[in-house]
Amino acid sequence: MSCIFCAIGQGSIPAEKLYDNEAVFVIADIHPKAKVHLLVIPKQHIVTFNDFTPVTYGSMASVAEAIANVTQRLGIAKSGYKVIANNGSDGGQAVPHLHFHILGGEPVQGIT
Ligand code: 5GP
Ligand code: ZN
Repeated sequence: MSCIFCAIGQGSIPAEKLYDNEAVFVIADIHPKAKVHLLVIPKQHIVTFNDFTPVTYGSMASVAEAIANVTQRLGIAKSGYKVIANNGSDGGQAVPHLHFHILGGEPVQGIT
């Protein structure tokens, strides 16, 4: 199975990780839509929320911890930001490995 986000998570494709632990990592989006545009990516290969099971629920706690950590470190925690997870074809998901966009650093109300 070739999955770009699994490959980045495992280190076989290099990328600067702003946050990295056993469960989740954070990278800058390659095509930023806002001054700050990050991707929070669970290391388990979960495609959409349809794939969650009791074994993978813990990933969501790790996602929350990562969001709190990186937004604080990048100085956008107080000014605010948006978190988006596109799911499936109607959701416009391009990469079939669940990930959470963090958009901020400027007003992002109009950014999807
Ligand atoms: P989505 O699946 O939520 O529609 O969007 C996938 C996002 O991943 C896009 O915003 C795209 O720019 C980003 N992306 C796709 N491939 C890569 C990559 O190899 N590296 C990084 N940093 N971002 C990527
Ligand atoms: Zn994957």
